Amino acid sequence: MIATQIKGYLERASWIRKMFEEGARLKAQYGPERVCDFSLGNPDVPPPPEVRKALEEILAEDRPELHAYMPNAGFPFAREAMARKVSREQGVSVSAEEVVLTCGAAGGLNIIFKTLLEPGDEVVFPSPFFVEYVFYVENHRGVPRPVATREDFSLDLEALEAAIGKKTKAVLLNSPHNPTGRLYPEEDLAALSELLRGKSQALGRPVYLVSDEPYRNLVFDGKRTPTIFQHYEASFVVGSFSKELSLPGERIGFVAVHPEMPGKEEILAALILANRILGFVNAPALAQRIAARCAETLVEVSVYQRRRDLLCEILAEAGLEFVRPEGAFYVFPKTPVDDVEFCRLLQEELILAVPGRGFGAPGHIRLAFCVDERVIERSREGFKRAVEKARK
Ligand code: PLP
Repeated sequence: MIATQIKGYLERASWIRKMFEEGARLKAQYGPERVCDFSLGNPDVPPPPEVRKALEEILAEDRPELHAYMPNAGFPFAREAMARKVSREQGVSVSAEEVVLTCGAAGGLNIIFKTLLEPGDEVVFPSPFFVEYVFYVENHRGVPRPVATREDFSLDLEALEAAIGKKTKAVLLNSPHNPTGRLYPEEDLAALSELLRGKSQALGRPVYLVSDEPYRNLVFDGKRTPTIFQHYEASFVVGSFSKELSLPGERIGFVAVHPEMPGKEEILAALILANRILGFVNAPALAQRIAARCAETLVEVSVYQRRRDLLCEILAEAGLEFVRPEGAFYVFPKTPVDDVEFCRLLQEELILAVPGRGFGAPGHIRLAFCVDERVIERSREGFKRAVEKARK
């Protein structure tokens, strides 16, 4: 009854569904407060107070056009606010015309791939990876090409170089990274940009760089996420307020196109049309108004940093090996046994995690620390017991 492709997706995703069903069963049986649920990247830190204030002010204006359609690229004032934000963050002056408001980063990535990909074009990205990348690329008849990172999840530039060939249309990066919490250092971005410049020259066309940055400002220990725009002209920055303002359900983000992007006018026209014809039409009006007012605001990042510290302490105490996250709100430890089996052992301890194979990296689990510190503390003995059982 349904198309072959989505049937295949449903089958591939069935173990994820089973895991969530098992989680729901445990919560029903033992009470949700007893289950330590690290499975979802759904921010629980409240939006900053500026968001409520903005919403109240917007609603108080009570203008008839408040909820109306606007140009597919977004309200001009929202594009301007995003351009100011991107200019500051990237250290390159971006104008409002170079920004498109989107339905989150997910919408942004989909309009970029709709704009760039011919059937069979490859999109290269480091692995482990955000699982939706495969779908977003295949939605537009592209071919996902995951490339393994090093042991510490840093970029393997030689492996990337080997993977980029005639069919490569774009490289997709995500930093700070889901699921590893890794932040790529400036030197690596500079080296990757050099590599892409060389490849573009050899191929006689640009190999694009797409920087997916929903966690850009969720970084710890006083670090800063380096700029992409200062290194590479044929690049896109994809931003989002899902995590930075804790507004994932409001579906608001943006795409910024490098001011010196080759063929920029046509690319922008295509992005804007793609926003319309993929059925997004435009990013939600209220959310655009909020984002425009709160573009320079941020959730309380210190909350995530404290949780990172606590969870890392617990994992180390349990004897698990992991790379300490530098940003975002995920940690991706190695598992002492098969990852699905380890998730099962954790479930016996009422701890929910996601097997690494879902992110292209079996032998790991992803833990999202979008949960209260008390929940993290409660998981301490459970992690220890699960590791002990796994080692028996
Ligand atoms: N990219 C990455 C790496 C993510 O982790 C997520 C969401 O979890 C997204 C994109 C999509 O975010 P949005 O809610 O802005 O569409």
